[in-house]
Amino acid sequence: MKYYILFGPPGAGKGTQATAMVEKYNLHHISTGDLLRKEIKAGTPLGLQAKALIEKGCLVPDEVVEGMIESEFATVKGVDGFLLDGFPRTLAQAEALDQILAKTGDEVTAVVSIMIPDEMIIERIQGRAAKEGRADDASVDIIKNRIATYHSQTEPEIAYYQKAGKYNEIDGIGTIEEVRDRIFSVVDKF
Ligand code: ADP
Repeated sequence: MKYYILFGPPGAGKGTQATAMVEKYNLHHISTGDLLRKEIKAGTPLGLQAKALIEKGCLVPDEVVEGMIESEFATVKGVDGFLLDGFPRTLAQAEALDQILAKTGDEVTAVVSIMIPDEMIIERIQGRAAKEGRADDASVDIIKNRIATYHSQTEPEIAYYQKAGKYNEIDGIGTIEEVRDRIFSVVDKF
């Protein structure tokens, strides 16, 4: 089993590129953002808790997303691997992921990091806001808080995965196809 992490700031194009990757490499796409939005839509207690945090641009508690990931790993069969999008998002989640995978003798295969500058994040998220109608895309203040959350809580993972020799960074500026081809040339190596 391959375990790829698609890493990058909000708006880097992870969701878009995930679609191309799952087809080419027969992976199951796990987006913690999508899983949380499903819970919100279904009005579950977890969804209610998540909604309040997401709409402020904050993260939901680590245990919540860790539980979701572990249950997806256990239930999805018939694929060559998993593509994690939006997880891990904190160092604690990265460590928990290593522990979850170690239980089955597995490990993270590679981290593919899509990098774009902060100014472009705001532009891109505002561009998709009208199309997707996400509450956390609607205001510049919330977007700025998500960017701040990314820098303070998620970015430290870069050093963690560099140290493990698993970090691969690609330039996220360019057309969808250009970025996709850069990703494919990294993933083809594994
Ligand atoms: P984006 O990458 O565009 O910000 P996502 O759909 O990945 O969007 O995530 C939306 C929101 O869901 C995040 O801002 C956060 O509040 C919550 N979320 C998603 N994944 C995680 C995670 N791994 N840990 C904590 N919160 C998460």
